[in-house]
Amino acid sequence: MSQAPIAAIATPPGRGGIGVVRVSGDGLATLIAGIAGKPLAPRIATRVAFRDAQGNAIDTGLALFFPRPHSYTGEDVVEWHGHGGPAVMRLLLARCLELGARLAEPGEFTKRAFLNGKLDLAQAESVADVIEASTASAVRAAARSLTGEFSREVHALRDALIELRMYTEATLDFPDEELDLLREGDVQARLSSIRERLHAVLARARTGAVLREGLTVVLVGAPNVGKSSLLNRLVGDDVAIVTAIPGTTRDTIERPVEIAGIPLTIVDTAGLRDTSDAVEALGIARTRAAIARADLALLLVDARDDEGVVGEGTVSSLDARIAALVSELPRDLPRIIVHNKCDLAHVAPRIERAADEPVAVWLCALTGQGIELLEAEVRRIAGVGETTEDAFFARARQLQALTDAARHLDVAKEHAESLPPPVELFAEELRLAQDSVSSITGEFTADDLLGEIFSRFCIGK
Ligand code: GDP
Repeated sequence: MSQAPIAAIATPPGRGGIGVVRVSGDGLATLIAGIAGKPLAPRIATRVAFRDAQGNAIDTGLALFFPRPHSYTGEDVVEWHGHGGPAVMRLLLARCLELGARLAEPGEFTKRAFLNGKLDLAQAESVADVIEASTASAVRAAARSLTGEFSREVHALRDALIELRMYTEATLDFPDEELDLLREGDVQARLSSIRERLHAVLARARTGAVLREGLTVVLVGAPNVGKSSLLNRLVGDDVAIVTAIPGTTRDTIERPVEIAGIPLTIVDTAGLRDTSDAVEALGIARTRAAIARADLALLLVDARDDEGVVGEGTVSSLDARIAALVSELPRDLPRIIVHNKCDLAHVAPRIERAADEPVAVWLCALTGQGIELLEAEVRRIAGVGETTEDAFFARARQLQALTDAARHLDVAKEHAESLPPPVELFAEELRLAQDSVSSITGEFTADDLLGEIFSRFCIGK
């Protein structure tokens, strides 16, 4: 299929040492001759002057030509590496358009790479993920998808499902043997090995989803218990702070921090107070919205209050405002009670888990003692183990597909175990599970979904 050339500035807007205009499509010879004034040798950086229609130099730089199919998109690709100024980049792009290219849509280069079989859908999506990743762990997880590790796992699952389906469907033609089929240990053993494998991938994808989306953590506590100190401690431990998002109230409401590679948004409820001020009310509404979508609440108390010993300048019990806040937290929201200032209470940092009660951690925000206990608990609640190193940077779409597949296999298992086994229903669930799994790498993906996925890319990618 002939592909009309598309062009875009591939480097970010603004000034930089180098700027790149990229063109992909068929029949680039005229375009190349028009700009470079001569044909380009494949995959060799050639220094040329970039010419306008009158033959005047727009800029000088390097030209790189990748003939199909050995290019990012699988089509002929030429890259013009000029000086990174907005005006010169625009002139160079305009020249490409003059010579027959059209402006690329967001993600169109990667979409073509997908359509030409250079990448599968999971890999194509991870291109955008690598670019957008905000932490080092996230970059590594996205790269794991980009190199195809995630796709290989998904394909292995699909292949195992296909094999089991073939076996099952072959026997549908021999109804007398159906009963034996599903009772045979082999089918059930194969099904359970596929389910195990699926759950392993799902766990790695869930970790990746946490790396991708992060967690919203609500910080609740009476004045002076050490909320700011804890926040500073969490922030200060890490160099990966992006920026503080200033709230509309005088207090900072949301702050991004990172714990063990997990991006957290800490919502400080100190900004919550009754007010008639319109701007502040807006901030409060935002905080309440954050509470509603929170993944975790940290309730701070003063460790000296544990035994009824009231520390100087602290409160002996959660005041009414805090109590009201706590009662507002969604009931099923996981929470950790943080007993701060354990140094002043003369107790060692520790963690306690009692049945039917929130986990309690004793720590010292001032010195950081016991912080690692809190961090480990946050990781546990996030469903992230000791390491995020084997995570797949899954998107909601991929996670949903894996979850759907798991659900179909649960039903399949029930069918396989019932008597007499409904073989057709069993086969149907396997088929649905396979469809879900295949949608991840884009084997059966509707055009509108493709459009939606690629429209979220940046231009030039
Ligand atoms: P907030 O009002 O809840 O934000 O509390 P702050 O973080 O401002 O802390 C109130 C006071 O308690 C400050 O003087 C902190 O230095 C002190 N503080 C906080 N955490 C600790 C701790 O773990 N140990 C000790 N000794 N003092 C602490």
